[in-house]
Amino acid sequence: MALVVKKFGGSSVANAERVMNVAGRITDTYKEGNSVVVVVSAQGDTTDDLIALANEINPKHSKREMDMLLSTGEQISISLLAMAIEKLGFPVISLTGWQLGMITDSNYGAARIQKIQTERIKKELDKNNIVIVAGFQGINRFGDITTLGRGGSDTSAVAIAAALHADLCEIYTDVDGVYTADPRIVPDAKKLNEITYDEMLELASLGANVLHNRSVELAKKYRVNLEVKSSFEKVPGTVVKEEIKVERMLVRGVTRDNDVARIAIMGVKDEPGIAFRIFSLLSKHKINVDIILQSIGRDNKKDISFTVSEGSADETMDIIQQNMEMIGAENVTCSKEFSKVSIVGAGMVNNPGVAAMMFEALFDVGVNIHMISTSESKISVLVKKANAEKAVRAIHNKFDFTE
Ligand code: ADP
Ligand code: ASP
Ligand code: MG
Repeated sequence: MALVVKKFGGSSVANAERVMNVAGRITDTYKEGNSVVVVVSAQGDTTDDLIALANEINPKHSKREMDMLLSTGEQISISLLAMAIEKLGFPVISLTGWQLGMITDSNYGAARIQKIQTERIKKELDKNNIVIVAGFQGINRFGDITTLGRGGSDTSAVAIAAALHADLCEIYTDVDGVYTADPRIVPDAKKLNEITYDEMLELASLGANVLHNRSVELAKKYRVNLEVKSSFEKVPGTVVKEEIKVERMLVRGVTRDNDVARIAIMGVKDEPGIAFRIFSLLSKHKINVDIILQSIGRDNKKDISFTVSEGSADETMDIIQQNMEMIGAENVTCSKEFSKVSIVGAGMVNNPGVAAMMFEALFDVGVNIHMISTSESKISVLVKKANAEKAVRAIHNKFDFTE
């Protein structure tokens, strides 16, 4: 007998038929004598629809009220799923984030889990109940509802699995595992049987939204046995773990991230302390900066450009514009027409040929590179959004993904 945490994403519970299908998957595991905790996301496009609804009424809404609104999506799916399980004749109870005690900080819209009170879940499991938990939501110390950021139900599931010392955490979704690229963009992408936590973390952080990046971080930290699999087909998925046995392939995956804005600050003085001033200003406002590029100085002037997420672009522009004099800049622009395309794989640092192959792939299809950034386990380039999918396909084509 094992304790299993299963998470079902929005598309897996999008309509009544799918809710019944998921209920069947859950009760199959329960019937085998296992304890089952289930985490669910909002149905289908519910979260997007709620965001649109809020923006229709007040685009400048407070983050607190937004979280209050968005958390309702998950409350709908937990109750419906519990009703489906009742219909199949099994004991079940649904719990919201606050009912179970998912304690987070107060960073509305991107809250971090601080503590999970496990007493209620354990009590329900002791009563032989199947426990259905609302993903994506928590409660802060003021008793207000928070959400964990888009895709955050994965993180709820892994955190609960860690807190309960579950034997397994299964993430059920609309693909049957983690692929070498998003199969919607690259139809002949290959399914990976296994992937390391580190590689998965890079992929997730660089735009592979099949797993929320925080969920992978937590899985690595607490050594959670994590598997991504299909809600619809009963086939083996992808196991995410510390080490993998296979003969290593150099590049594990290609990703694309559209959530990028490029800020370019032109004509700053070419003297010590300028970069320090700009980036300490941004860090004070908790703005995450990604790729940074500085031009070679000429006439005692230089340009500094960098990327931030689209969501922080407007705030970044405000901050820079208010401090133009202090920075000594002539002009600042913001462009949201770029995407970041990346390749991920451990051990790239010792293979200079990898970067050349990636750039050759882009040259082959005539895609211009606007920024480049490299690290031990990834190479990212900034390309025009309109070219991003073409770039992903061309790069994927260039590498050999046989395990
Ligand atoms: P859920 O609602 O179940 O959480 P998501 O839409 O968040 O599902 O995540 C699943 C989607 O992630 C897939 O439909 C796929 O298009 C996308 N995806 C992006 N990159 C990858 C990848 N490398 N492997 C598999 N799926 C990926
Ligand atoms: N419903 C939330 C979202 O759409 C959380 C999730 O799906 O994981 O982002
Ligand atoms: Mg998701």
